[in-house]
Amino acid sequence: MPRILLIAATTGYQTRAFADAAHRLGIEVTLATDRCHVLEDPWRDRAIAIRFEDPEESARRLTDIPDGIVAVADRSTSIAALVAQRLGIAWHPPEAVALCRNKNLMRAAFQSAGLKTPHHFTVPLDSDQREAVRTTYPCVLKPLGLSASRGVIRANDEASFIEAFTEIRRILNLPDIRRHHDEADRAIQIESYISGKEFALEGIMTDGELQVLAIFDKPDPLEGPYFEETIYLTPSRESASTQQAIVETCLGAVRALGLAHGPIHAEMRVNSEGVFMLEIAARPIGGLCARVLRFQPDLTLEELVILHAVGKMPADLLPVAAASGVMMIPVPGSGVLESVEGVDRARSIPLIIDIAITAKLGERLVPLPAGASYPGFIFAEGPDPFAVETALRRAHAELRFHLLSALPTLAPAAD
Ligand code: ADP
Repeated sequence: MPRILLIAATTGYQTRAFADAAHRLGIEVTLATDRCHVLEDPWRDRAIAIRFEDPEESARRLTDIPDGIVAVADRSTSIAALVAQRLGIAWHPPEAVALCRNKNLMRAAFQSAGLKTPHHFTVPLDSDQREAVRTTYPCVLKPLGLSASRGVIRANDEASFIEAFTEIRRILNLPDIRRHHDEADRAIQIESYISGKEFALEGIMTDGELQVLAIFDKPDPLEGPYFEETIYLTPSRESASTQQAIVETCLGAVRALGLAHGPIHAEMRVNSEGVFMLEIAARPIGGLCARVLRFQPDLTLEELVILHAVGKMPADLLPVAAASGVMMIPVPGSGVLESVEGVDRARSIPLIIDIAITAKLGERLVPLPAGASYPGFIFAEGPDPFAVETALRRAHAELRFHLLSALPTLAPAAD
């Protein structure tokens, strides 16, 4: 039986989804995770404990050779690349993954490859924000090493720039973020604001060749000040020439970064000047969103990524549905989740195929810019992207999240 090494920063629902997918395929899983602080063994799987803060040392400890490697979420990709290199398994090279995980190095790589790049510079977190104001407006400020739009803030003038800078500093000083990030990440990237529509491209690379699995439209305007993802729809409704330009820019971008083997998830904006890459990650689409892509006869994206990792990906990939979409349910507010109503009503809406409420009752929900995870996902499939979009919005309108308001913060925000 083939075996994959599943590298994950948590044992949460996304990791579970990959493990379940492997089991469905009859592929054995060894989990490598950094939950060393957890005493019990929730999966009774003798998971291997590794330290994400020390990828080199972690890679040295993983010596048993699996048939393939799958990394869940951004933090695992650095270790996955090192382990793959050490064990001689085809995957993205560590240098390419390092570029993907640093917004400044990624922009520099895109720029040297001649890709359209916004004006950008980086300032240390401890610099005086009044001195950092040497940009044109509108601009976007973002912490170097975070993901999922966490801490990404648009500023339209000097006052909002200073506010955003202070807020990002507060977020980077939050204990759970400090714990997981190096000093090198304690910097803020400032970029000119790219107007236009936003898209995502899901792909898988085999020995340097990119296979496009889907181009997603993001129909909701993402104009800031925060950039909360909501709906992804595929196939794209854009013209063939725009889609072609998106694919070509992505090809240039994966080459610029040196990505080679394994899944990629790219985000880009398109305006009258052309296609601007926002970023590329060396992993599939995040959260449970992978479920949005299903291939015939009934293969999920997670299953596809696993089959690819063990060299058994099917040659012909035909989507199950004419159109599909996912809504990352926007964080409904700040507070402790008490109950969710309307899930059954939302599920009964035509074209809705699943609703996953991933937030647990009693969990504290934190909206952007500080928050990181969505409370759940809505999936729909249908005859065309318009019908799918309507179904997602109708289902969302049925959901009611009841929150207990957060207690007032006693400690002043770290500045
Ligand atoms: P993350 O890795 O946290 O997702 P990104 O750099 O991809 O960070 O930014 C998150 C979102 O913020 C993007 O999807 C986009 O909507 C918006 N964004 C980021 N940079 C820019 C920019 N220079 N111009 C316009 N929007 C941007």
